[in-house]
Amino acid sequence: MNILFFLAKRFIAGETFERAKEVVKRLNDMGFSVTLDILGESVKNKGQAERARDSYIELLGNIYKLSLNSHISLKLTQMGLDIDDSYCYENVAGIVKTAHEYKNFVRIDMEGSQYAQRTIDIFEKVHKDYPDNVGMVIQAYLYRSKDDAAHSIEKRYRIRLCKGAYKEPPDIAYPNKRDVNKNFEEIMKELLLKGNYPAIATHDEGLIDSAKLFTGENNISKDEFEFQMLYGIRRMLQEKLLREGYRVRIYVPYGTHWLPYTIRRVRERKENLWFVLKNIFRR
Ligand SMILES: Cc1cc2nc3c(=O)[nH]c(=O)nc-3n(C[C@H](O)[C@H](O)[C@H](O)COP(=O)(O)OP(=O)(O)OC[C@H]3O[C@@H](n4cnc5c(N)ncnc54)[C@H](O)[C@@H]3O)c2cc1C
Repeated sequence: MNILFFLAKRFIAGETFERAKEVVKRLNDMGFSVTLDILGESVKNKGQAERARDSYIELLGNIYKLSLNSHISLKLTQMGLDIDDSYCYENVAGIVKTAHEYKNFVRIDMEGSQYAQRTIDIFEKVHKDYPDNVGMVIQAYLYRSKDDAAHSIEKRYRIRLCKGAYKEPPDIAYPNKRDVNKNFEEIMKELLLKGNYPAIATHDEGLIDSAKLFTGENNISKDEFEFQMLYGIRRMLQEKLLREGYRVRIYVPYGTHWLPYTIRRVRERKENLWFVLKNIFRR
């Protein structure tokens, strides 16, 4: 666990808002915008869900007071999706209403595929009342994603496109990385051409180059979309994109519930695991 915490520190801004705030200020000073994620997922009781909701509402107030350039990102299983859908909706609606009052923006992260349709349903319900303050995520590894992207374009939903971070069976998601990348590229181009300020969330330089080329060829200006990357991953690339004049938003997680997030980061890159093992053997 100690070794994993050592690794987690690379990917999370700290356990408290006080620590996260310093990271956001530093990133903002460099020219990045941010989305803050209070770590937490799969809550099993209403007390935990309501504490998470209240923390996000307080966070929106702090972002406003400190004039931070930051959105927020949250997960529906943190808001009670495993308890009850309408209960979860009420919690999220409370947060998005507050974001609306502060003129801020809430991104609903996408979790495992068993939650995909319910997440979209809740998103759509909240979006009806606050169309400018909430967006969702499409994962390119899912077979369904092209249809979801077409629907989102039609409805003017703000989409973050990522590859997908959960373990999914082959009847639901492309098992082969090359197919995921191809699907990502095709959906990305549709979103860039017709979407509502899409967020291209990847550290994959090939896909980033493809986005740059495509937007250049199609006269899509640099303020019509943004790149998004995770805190602690490919920092040089993040800075290079800024220097080239692109908008870059960094996803900054913080909080005490860092284990599942860290495990996802380790799983998607085996070098991280070697790094952990090397440290175990050094001790
Ligand atoms: C802003 C943002 C928000 C996201 N939101 C969601 C979400 O809501 N739901 C969801 O399922 N997934 C989400 N993800 C995660 C995403 O689905 C991928 O799992 C993750 O981004 C890795 O894929 P990649 O596109 O970077 O490509 P990859 O092909 O996996 O990686 C490309 C390169 O990036 C670097 N890299 C990637 N991951 C790591 C790592 N963990 N450690 C070190 N280097 C790494 C490596 O250099 C690698 O060669 C999000 C990602 C980003 C950037």
